Amino acid sequence: MTKVYYDADIAVQPLSDKKVAILGYGSQGHAHALNLRDSGFDVVIGLRPGASWQRAEADGFTVLPVGEAVEAADVVMILLPDERQVAVYEQEVKPYLNKDKALAFAHGFNIHFTQIQPPADVDVFLVAPKGPGHLVRRVYEAGGGVPALVAVQQDASGQALELALAYGRGIGASRAGILTTTFKEETETDLFGEQAVLCGGLAALVKAGFETLLEAGYQPEVAYFECLHEMKLIVDLIYEGGLEYMRYSISDTAQWGDFTSGPRVVTDETKAEMKRILADIQSGQFAKGWILENQANRPMFNAINRNEQEHPIEVVGRELRAMMPFIKSSRQAVSSTKA
Ligand code: NDP
Ligand code: MG
Ligand code: MG
Repeated sequence: MTKVYYDADIAVQPLSDKKVAILGYGSQGHAHALNLRDSGFDVVIGLRPGASWQRAEADGFTVLPVGEAVEAADVVMILLPDERQVAVYEQEVKPYLNKDKALAFAHGFNIHFTQIQPPADVDVFLVAPKGPGHLVRRVYEAGGGVPALVAVQQDASGQALELALAYGRGIGASRAGILTTTFKEETETDLFGEQAVLCGGLAALVKAGFETLLEAGYQPEVAYFECLHEMKLIVDLIYEGGLEYMRYSISDTAQWGDFTSGPRVVTDETKAEMKRILADIQSGQFAKGWILENQANRPMFNAINRNEQEHPIEVVGRELRAMMPFIKSSRQAVSSTKA
């Protein structure tokens, strides 16, 4: 089995005398900053004036314009949206980099697809939590951790891996397990996972099930509880004990339906399409499309997003969740949730 790093395998020292600048205070940014501070590390936040700046200050951090934060820090973690990183890097990060600094990412997109090309004399590493930012914080506060991948692209100091591991420990990832990887593997598997399974595949599955019930004349509220709400309850069982524990907990009737009908929903053709999705990621085709979409000010992204928000599953879901205040959401606290 591949080596998995836990707290006991990782020295904190490489990071303990260093200042970390967290650029961005969104989903990942707030979680990294708060967890690192609670783990005893020295953190400063780099931002533009706005909502995130207010939040970071309210949480007790020193907040600086990006360039000043980079200048003040030894380790610079870029937790800006992937599509904004290039412009901010060129204007506000690169001018302040020098050979004593390390540049870090939570996703390899801009390095792997060569949108950002750092100078050769800085360390470049990746600490990519395998979970949404809100969970990176929530699970840490509860004493656990969200697992992470670490990778080193440039090891100018000879210490980049130790630094990356110490950072991963600081955000709580080594409570769950840290794996080493490459920027290429992290980027391609992360994009594939979120597109085919976690976000794209899941959203399409939930919607198709809901629509099938609605079109057959069933009540939208019943269809919502069946196809969306209960998803979490089932996924919690899978998270705790794998598919076998989920199958142990459900009825034998449900398990028989799982065995016989699951492969009729996700067919050989679905898997062939997954392979084509992966090929588009590996070839850079997906990256090119997303970069161009952003350069065009997101006409398709915005149009699809508007339609999706009006889907009947969202309309009925908003009404039903309003009656379930025990369902906690951190939406108000942080602007976005992405994988
Ligand atoms: P968010 O969109 O949640 O947050 C982005 C932050 O960047 C906000 O605080 C925003 O502040 C700030 N920002 C945006 N533009 C600028 C700018 N020009 N100058 C200064 N600050 C700016 O990002 P995510 O946390 O989702 O993503 C960050 C990185 O983490 C990405 O590389 C992503 O791939 C990776 N990642 C994300 C995961 C997730 O759970 N979301 C999971 C694993 C990796 P403002 O309020 O001013 O807009
Ligand atoms: Mg991911
Ligand atoms: Mg991702």
